[in-house]
Amino acid sequence: TGRLAGKRCVVTAAAQGIGLATVEAFLREGAALVVAVDINQEKLNQLASQSSRVTCRVLDVSDGTGIRALAKEFPDINVLFNCAGIVTNKTFLETTEEEWDQAFDVNVKSMFHTIQAFLPQMLSSEDGGSIINMGSVASTLRGIPMRSLYGSTKAAVIGLTKGVARDYIRQRIRCNVVCPSPVATPSYDVRKQNDQDSDMELCKHIVDNLTGRLASADEVANLCVYLASDESSYHTGNVFTIDGGFNL
Ligand code: NAD
Repeated sequence: TGRLAGKRCVVTAAAQGIGLATVEAFLREGAALVVAVDINQEKLNQLASQSSRVTCRVLDVSDGTGIRALAKEFPDINVLFNCAGIVTNKTFLETTEEEWDQAFDVNVKSMFHTIQAFLPQMLSSEDGGSIINMGSVASTLRGIPMRSLYGSTKAAVIGLTKGVARDYIRQRIRCNVVCPSPVATPSYDVRKQNDQDSDMELCKHIVDNLTGRLASADEVANLCVYLASDESSYHTGNVFTIDGGFNL
């Protein structure tokens, strides 16, 4: 029982923050299996003990060979949540070519790898599949200081999402993108130590003038439960901004 009864899911960046909150929400909603992928072995170990329905794999999402092997190991996945992403806190001119390539590898090309690997099995399954990609308000939605690289990757995710949704629209595949404003997660706490971070000004604006608080990882996870479930059956290619009124 539960809103995700019978669903077999893959979640990347599953060891903390939004990814972890989503794994926990998927399990609460009765998912049959959640494959939790992250590079942080220690935190994955803590997660592995939570439920017999969660299986953890230490894997870098930019490792195409590893992702293809994962899809062979789990050949009947019907929910793929591409959550992994890294933030670069630099102005455009400060950004190096190496940082540019790394951010696109982790934030965008990872989705090329995972969707290429898991989509064929979704297409051959009667149940089809739901792909959820992690975007951000820093994308086509907003220009945020020190986020030209990050926002470029997240804008690419919106394009990728719409393209995949369009190509497979008649084949029971749905693909949507989630675009949060700043969310209180462990990486946000690290950025908070560094008052140079553009997030701080933004977060102060949200806290002082808007909702009075940031989004929680659980609030974003709730949206992912909806998108993973059959309740969202008429949503595909859609951009789900979750921003507590940040864009008002
Ligand atoms: P986080 O940054 O706190 O943690 C990210 C997790 O991803 C960590 O467990 C880390 O080990 C893992 N990870 C990093 N690189 C990886 C890789 N190459 N392969 C596999 N795992 C990897 O988590 P978060 O803040 O919840 O962010 C998750 C996603 O949400 C990211 O894509 C981020 O861009 C997006 N997002 C976050 C916010 C926010 O304010 N926190 C806002 C909008 C969008």
